Amino acid sequence: MTHNKRAIGVLLESGEELLASQVFSSIGLPETMAKISEATLEPRVGKMTFLESLFVFDQKPIYATDATILFYNNSNKYSYTQAQNYFDERSAVICLPDNYEPHVSTGEGMVRVTYMANFDQWKTLSREDYLAKKESVAQSALALTKKLIPKLDAKLLYTDVFSPTTIEKYTWHFKGTVYGSIDKTRDGRTPIDNLFIIGTDQGFLGIVGAMLSGISMANLHGLMEQK
Ligand SMILES: Cc1cc2nc3c(=O)[nH]c(=O)nc-3n(C[C@H](O)[C@H](O)[C@H](O)COP(=O)(O)OP(=O)(O)OC[C@H]3O[C@@H](n4cnc5c(N)ncnc54)[C@H](O)[C@@H]3O)c2cc1C
Repeated sequence: MTHNKRAIGVLLESGEELLASQVFSSIGLPETMAKISEATLEPRVGKMTFLESLFVFDQKPIYATDATILFYNNSNKYSYTQAQNYFDERSAVICLPDNYEPHVSTGEGMVRVTYMANFDQWKTLSREDYLAKKESVAQSALALTKKLIPKLDAKLLYTDVFSPTTIEKYTWHFKGTVYGSIDKTRDGRTPIDNLFIIGTDQGFLGIVGAMLSGISMANLHGLMEQK
């Protein structure tokens, strides 16, 4: 809620109004601006989104490799860009989180494979095609896992794949962007007085970055001013 380009509070879906002298928004810069009728800023939505395949095996993978993470690239020049065809098989990140505890060798093991993806293409798929496409991603990721970790011959118990639209569904970030907008607001300020951005679109990336951002912006714009 704004008045004369000044934040005055937050309107909940229930209709309840929470009045506040300062508002800190962690939903993203474009997403925040889209909620404000007085906003003049139109931040660009990012393009980088991913899909991940998760495989649960009946054994931990430590017997096959002690790697915790593998960075795969099969072209001469690594291409960090939006995928052209749903997902980009030319490169991947393979995570083996169980291997951070190599002394724990019993129990189920997990392998996660991340590919760069294309939100718009995934968004337009019918439900049937979406499920089929996810299946082809899982097959690709499993084949890559077996290629990179040839000794892995554990029984596959469970497979799941999430797509850019899954990210959009749970984070509400436009186009399922993992690192938010291309436009960051380094000091947290927005064209609306007393409305500050925290989290990815303030500029500190990742989980630790998001936490650091909230603390930094609260100190800069809130707590210090109250002293
Ligand atoms: C698939 C994936 C894998 C990742 N892997 C890693 C990793 O390994 N390491 C790492 O450091 N980072 C990783 N990241 C990035 C990391 O998750 C983000 O950088 C971080 O979560 C950003 O925090 P945030 O608080 O800015 O936003 P978010 O964590 O996106 O939080 C925004 C919150 O706002 C809520 N929201 C949105 N709109 C509204 C609304 N209108 N009303 C109420 N609530 C709303 C959303 O539901 C969400 O809970 C990953 C991200 C994704 C998507």
